[in-house]
Amino acid sequence: MVTTVQGEAVLRQLSSLGHATNLELHAALAESMPTLSLPSVHRITARMVERGQVGLGPSDGRTVVLDARAETHDHFVCAACGGIVDLELSPAVISAIQEQLGQHLVRDGITIRGRCETCRRSEDHPKKE
Ligand SMILES: [Zn+2]
Ligand SMILES: [Zn+2]
Repeated sequence: MVTTVQGEAVLRQLSSLGHATNLELHAALAESMPTLSLPSVHRITARMVERGQVGLGPSDGRTVVLDARAETHDHFVCAACGGIVDLELSPAVISAIQEQLGQHLVRDGITIRGRCETCRRSEDHPKKE
């Protein structure tokens, strides 16, 4: 049985994380809700996605990434650490991309891949100061 309290806790946790997998949500809630099982988290989030309460973020196709923002938006994903940042691309940018795509249709937001600030810092060899 999934309780309302559990559902609310999952939603609150997702809102504070922004984007998270079921596994991450479960891990984050394990301490405060030890009775909440991973299958329950799966059930709770699946229902929320169905209801349009939460969205789906960019994923590698293997793991579902839940998004606290249900409406379609764009993302930056760090290829090194998998960190996800919300983006708002302007309609001009999206139509420029659409032009290149021809018959392919831009839908469900655009995902840009790169290196986040933290990963860039750890990659760059520190210069002499
Ligand atoms: Zn990163
Ligand atoms: Zn997002």
